Amino acid sequence: MCRCTGYRPILTGFKSLAKDADTEILGKYPDIEDLRKCEKQDCQEICASACKNQFTPVISSNLADAKWFKVFSINEIFDVLKENRNRSYQLVAGNTAKGVYHDLNENPDIYIDITSVTNLLNDSVTSSSLVIGANKTLRDTIEVFRKRATTNGLEYLNYLADHIELVAHVPVRNIGTLAGNLTIKHERNEFPSDIFLIFETVGANVTIVNSRKKEEEIDLLRYLTFDMQKKVMKNIILPKLDNSYKYGSYKITPRAQNAHAMVNAGFLLKLDKNQTVQSARIVYGGIDPSFNHAIKAERYLVGKQIFDDRTLQGVFKALDEDIHPDNVLPQPSPRFRKNSAISLFYKFILSIAPDNKVSPRNKSGGFLLSRPISTGVQDFQTNESLYPLTQAIPKLEALAQTSGEAEYIMDIPSKYDQLYACFVTAKAPANSVVTKIDPSKALKQPGVVTFYGAKDIPGSNTFIPPNANFPVGFIPPPQHLVPEELFCSGVVKYYFQPLGIIVADTQELADTAANMVEVKYRSGAKPFLSIRQILEAGATDRIHEEASLKASQKGEDIKHIVKGTFDTTWQYHYHMETQICLVVPKEDSLDIYPGTQWMDIIQTGVANVLNISENYINIKVRRVGGAYGAKITRSAQTACATALAAYKLHKPVKMKMTFSMNMDVVGKRFPSAADYEVGLNDKGRIQYLNNTFYLDYAAGGNEPIISKSIDIFASSYISDTWNVTGKYTQTDNHASVWTRAPGHTKIMAMIETIMEHIAMELNIPSLDIRLANMDQEQNKATLQFINECRQWCDYDNRLKSVEEFNKNNRWKKKALSLVPMTYILRYAGNLSSTVAIYAGDGTVAVSHGGIEIGQGINTKVAQVCAYALGISLDMVSVKVSNNLVSPNNFTTGGSLTSEAICYATLRACEILLQRMKPVKDKMNNPSWKELVKECQNQYIELVATHMFSPNDPIQSYNIYGVCATEIELDILTGIHQVVRVDLLEDTGNSMSPCIDIGQVEGAFIMGLGFWTTENPVFDDEGRILTDRTWNYKIPGALDIPIDFRVKFPKNNPNPNGVLHSKATAEPPLCLACSVPIAIRQAVASARKEADANASKWYPISGPSDVENTFLNSLHDYKQYTL
Ligand SMILES: Cc1cc2nc3c(=O)[nH]c(=O)nc-3n(C[C@H](O)[C@H](O)[C@H](O)COP(=O)(O)OP(=O)(O)OC[C@H]3O[C@@H](n4cnc5c(N)ncnc54)[C@H](O)[C@@H]3O)c2cc1C
Repeated sequence: MCRCTGYRPILTGFKSLAKDADTEILGKYPDIEDLRKCEKQDCQEICASACKNQFTPVISSNLADAKWFKVFSINEIFDVLKENRNRSYQLVAGNTAKGVYHDLNENPDIYIDITSVTNLLNDSVTSSSLVIGANKTLRDTIEVFRKRATTNGLEYLNYLADHIELVAHVPVRNIGTLAGNLTIKHERNEFPSDIFLIFETVGANVTIVNSRKKEEEIDLLRYLTFDMQKKVMKNIILPKLDNSYKYGSYKITPRAQNAHAMVNAGFLLKLDKNQTVQSARIVYGGIDPSFNHAIKAERYLVGKQIFDDRTLQGVFKALDEDIHPDNVLPQPSPRFRKNSAISLFYKFILSIAPDNKVSPRNKSGGFLLSRPISTGVQDFQTNESLYPLTQAIPKLEALAQTSGEAEYIMDIPSKYDQLYACFVTAKAPANSVVTKIDPSKALKQPGVVTFYGAKDIPGSNTFIPPNANFPVGFIPPPQHLVPEELFCSGVVKYYFQPLGIIVADTQELADTAANMVEVKYRSGAKPFLSIRQILEAGATDRIHEEASLKASQKGEDIKHIVKGTFDTTWQYHYHMETQICLVVPKEDSLDIYPGTQWMDIIQTGVANVLNISENYINIKVRRVGGAYGAKITRSAQTACATALAAYKLHKPVKMKMTFSMNMDVVGKRFPSAADYEVGLNDKGRIQYLNNTFYLDYAAGGNEPIISKSIDIFASSYISDTWNVTGKYTQTDNHASVWTRAPGHTKIMAMIETIMEHIAMELNIPSLDIRLANMDQEQNKATLQFINECRQWCDYDNRLKSVEEFNKNNRWKKKALSLVPMTYILRYAGNLSSTVAIYAGDGTVAVSHGGIEIGQGINTKVAQVCAYALGISLDMVSVKVSNNLVSPNNFTTGGSLTSEAICYATLRACEILLQRMKPVKDKMNNPSWKELVKECQNQYIELVATHMFSPNDPIQSYNIYGVCATEIELDILTGIHQVVRVDLLEDTGNSMSPCIDIGQVEGAFIMGLGFWTTENPVFDDEGRILTDRTWNYKIPGALDIPIDFRVKFPKNNPNPNGVLHSKATAEPPLCLACSVPIAIRQAVASARKEADANASKWYPISGPSDVENTFLNSLHDYKQYTL
């Protein structure tokens, strides 16, 4: 998964390896696997897989607490089992099953590697079947199926291969095996195994071998309850099926690939020549652990004419009676699973029905959405006379990063005697009172060093120090900095609040031992877990107004009133490098290597927690591996805890959160709720608008956002009749955290959603509603951008095609949205840059107070520095950020750091040039090297610093953007595809277009994830249930727009920004609200057809994900006709 790039550049890179790539990129990048040379003598082979020149009898080796065997035959498996008869064991094939269930085969005594057992890897065709080795990898199975599908009776294998392509992702399919997958289903019946599903649909059997080498062939239903202890699955037998059989299988997933099924289904009908059903197999996964076949429906169908609406209604009714999904969070709702299971059967029938039996409007319901190869266009202008400024160059660290050479904190070699720490967290709802913390069991584990809790803190128990250097006025009234406990001191503030840390010899041990700490609680008041709960309870002490926009007048032409709500949920940052810190005590300092966006809060925070002076602390940050806001204030929590352990033990200590702990402990993007009412005239011009919205700051409050982003609600429109009030709430959840465009994303989506609501209620095209609420003068720039985008993407013609498509298709719908943005960028805080020129060779180094968080700040800084000094880019190097060179700097965030640091660099260069000028004037057109050398000879100081601040003569400005998004929706599954995005982004004169393109594409895809696939689920105690990649889904490479066009308008200098540029990191994320808006439009088209009386509009809280989309399309199987 990649949160940063938006995948487009990665896909473009991979395209160069494809044999049918465009000539421009064909073979541009060599395949890394081709670089591997076999080191064995006389071996000329390229090692792309395991070495086939090796063959040895059973190999064994001792692990720390287990034994490892490698075997080469089934007999050897049993020999090993016999020798180790009383020991627990695991057969190791791909060893990927643990990625699904961490606790499957927990800590066995022996591991038996079966990957070289040839008997488990064969395949052969008999007169009645295909027999395939049980430990074929999924990738090899696909190949075998494609090959064998040319055999009479095995043609259906192509469909099975298609389905396996939907399992997991390429690396898992490369090593994960059939038997491994079926074993997961055997052990955990609730697992919606696709392999079990497709094999059970065609009536496959498996061969099981026992320790007496006796083979038994059993069907898959029997296998589910078969005692597999000390047995081996040898192969799978797939029957030949003649062409009277019709096969179809489906999988509904929250994203396009690498996701397990929400519901999956396999259908096999045997039809006679009159299309009467002779036998039926209807298999579902994801319903409940014991449900496999829809038995009533199977029985009902036998003897019925299949392509007859009466039969269909009968079978849908039978399915309705058969299917009763369980209700286990975080699974999708039973209503969704039941109804989508029925609609999949309808889809199957549409797919196999002859053309003359199906209405042309229904036909496309039988197809799945098909996705061609993704393409992208990046359209921007550069100015050669300014190079390397404005030059489209790759990020300076790109090669080091992609080759793995770039150093992250995890890569810093372990120090002598280094220890590791892990948080012990409260597994109890907020308001519980901690009555006892007993670490004794954990401390008994060899290698566990100590436990520290709140009482062990020498200074104050808060990682947000009262003296944190937020810019003056940054925290708006009535707020002030609130202490946030490093460790809970009594009353639990939120589920999973850290209570202390365990320190141990290794990270794994610390993580394990942390779970052994026993904690007792007394229950407390029921927590408030959502904004709506607070509002419903009237808990006014938890609601505070932060900012508002007031109407100066009210229109009188009120013909319509539109009221609604708009609620959104959290978004997890999903940075690959989780919260991390290394602290190394030295004789006169603590050297801290934090994964942070803000060095200063680490310095003040640690000093405050340890009660030491700030000058005792050295901080260095090379880069962080993703952050998106999560490493602004939250990084101080990890750093303070790690520093506490290092300081008290006087040993180096590192702490790296696991992915799950990171999701449990660290807050996420603010949830929001809005209640609005709008009065309108017949043209949709707003006469008054009242909107009260809430963002939940939860247990935090130190990351205010409403006052900084409320303007975007009104900035694209005439808003003098609008009253907008922004309030923050305080639920008992982990503190909400700044997350890329934290307030703007939701506040802009609010007004754009209101525009859509108005359009649907008044039945006027939504672009017309937007234009009706703009003014030619006041919104001139926004209108110009709209016009340019409209022409560029051929909006009007494409909208007509969309309407035509929707008229002709009942179960597929398209939509084309267009959303404008006017983003007001304001500067805050101070950020400095220091430029040093080395006299020996004239090369230059820069160290600045920003943090390279993947946004390419160092590349822009180097370009600006080289441009300002008039030297080539390769003479500039950007060094580690540290708190000696850049003390008291504000955080990297809010899109403005790159610009601010570039400005500071420019000024520092100007100071240097000024100092060098008198020397230069006395020389005869010297080269740069000669000049520098002479300056050194004349004792000119060749290092200069400038600190950027709002005192600099640089003004805030607007960033404009428009995005047109076309989607196609499969109503029968709720799955959509983003067909095309045309995104016009105002970058001024981009300082570094490739970097800015990366920012725009990455931000848009992060927004797309927020609005479509990312849906954190909590239980009613406030415990997050989606804290794994298994159940929290960011977009994958096949969720991005199929055709993604990004354009920076030409000849568009920004008079107010740094070197005429504009910021890019956050604004494009706001434009991603064009995706849920398009999905709504498509759903509205389906709703109109499902029920003429139903409102086109529907409220949603959370993303427009597959479930929401499906349920809001108003399914009723009575409408499922041929
Ligand atoms: C990220 C991810 C996504 C996934 N998505 C999907 C999905 O969408 N749909 C889906 O259906 N599955 C999915 N899976 C499951 C995946 O298909 C299985 O993890 C994989 O097939 C297991 O095979 P393996 O060889 O790695 O098994 P291992 O992990 O090596 O073994 C698993 C178990 O099988 C036992 N075993 C292995 N071979 C034999 C044998 N011959 N006889 C008896 N016991 C045996 C082992 O003892 C062990 O208990 C996903 C997995 C991951 C990690």
